[in-house]
Amino acid sequence: MSRCRHCGTPLEHVFVDLGFAPPSNAYLDPADLAKPEIYYPLKLYVCTDCWLVQTQDYRHADELFGKDYAYFSSVSKTWLDHAARYVEMICSRLNLGKDSFVIEVAANDGYLLKNFVTARIPCLGIEPTASTAVAAESVGVPVLREFFGRALAERLAAEGKQADLIVGNNVYAHVPDINDFTAGLRVALKPGGTVTLEFPHLMRLIEHVQFDTVYHEHFSYLSLHTVIRVFASAGLRVSDVEELPTHGGSLRVYGCHFDDARGQSPAVVAVLDEEERRGMRELAIYKRFQDRVDEVKNALLAFLIDQKSQGKRIAAYGAAAKGNTLLNYAGVKKDLLSYVCDAAPSKQGKFLPGSHIPILPPSAMRERRPEVVLILPWNIADEVVGEHRYVREWGGQFGVAVPHLEIRDA
Ligand SMILES: [Zn+2]
Repeated sequence: MSRCRHCGTPLEHVFVDLGFAPPSNAYLDPADLAKPEIYYPLKLYVCTDCWLVQTQDYRHADELFGKDYAYFSSVSKTWLDHAARYVEMICSRLNLGKDSFVIEVAANDGYLLKNFVTARIPCLGIEPTASTAVAAESVGVPVLREFFGRALAERLAAEGKQADLIVGNNVYAHVPDINDFTAGLRVALKPGGTVTLEFPHLMRLIEHVQFDTVYHEHFSYLSLHTVIRVFASAGLRVSDVEELPTHGGSLRVYGCHFDDARGQSPAVVAVLDEEERRGMRELAIYKRFQDRVDEVKNALLAFLIDQKSQGKRIAAYGAAAKGNTLLNYAGVKKDLLSYVCDAAPSKQGKFLPGSHIPILPPSAMRERRPEVVLILPWNIADEVVGEHRYVREWGGQFGVAVPHLEIRDA
């Protein structure tokens, strides 16, 4: 039996079992379609001691992230705006200036740090993926091409590069060794410094049946309760928390050294109380999840089969990881969903892993005039609808499958 990656308790309880799937970012070239594809179990467990929901640890990070494909954060305008607002807020809140030093872990293509470059605040990105690191450097962001952890943090500290602010947006849930990563945050943080981490809130994942946010590279599914525990074991403390609408409901936690003079904001207690009220520290809520997932999956399948029997034209929009989890669990192939459109040129001309559904540019919708456009990344549904209202010219509608199937006018 495997053990909890944080506290070592044996993992006896399955939270959700989504069968087997290929890595969600393993997009295929036409030549790959005739080759075998590797499927890994996609199954989450819940630890009944620290309540960390987690994948089993059976792959190494370099296997998962070593692909030549990479997600470029700057493709999404919603995300760019979110990053710019964050930088404005945090510079004012922490009074950051030209003598400050900011580190972003998983700096991606520089979508966030470029705002610090513009504000002339010294910064450093940590980004192991070569293609995004190159993009970050092209907008003036210095980048270390490495994985972040305690070892790297100790080198940075030895070089006098401890940070006033360490930012981690959508990286905390994706690190295989959460204890080592958190220890690294403490080592790389100046006395009096602040860590902010954003990650999807497990409480919202459960509430809104967001099982499609489960994929192999997403190792941890976090409540505030669990994060406070992981922080404490590394010598850090959560001083404040904000609830964000991103990714269907995220938390932004503010961390500091355990002995920092800062108090704890009432928001921390409020979120902890709500988690407790909803049963996040009892096994029942986790054991119920699979049945709710299967209802969503079955409703999508019934809809696609019904539309197909009526001869309707269906397109999907957004070749995101979420869509791969959903389509692979539901067993949807191109007989039910013949193509997916995506604005990222790096994905166009490729095929979704597992389902082998072709990825086309958004212009394909004007040519094929789908009657329903199923938006796979439901978290950016409003943005997608706003950009593609022209589907109403031929009476097209938009739909999402999660948290329940919903079809609406453009
Ligand atoms: Zn545990």
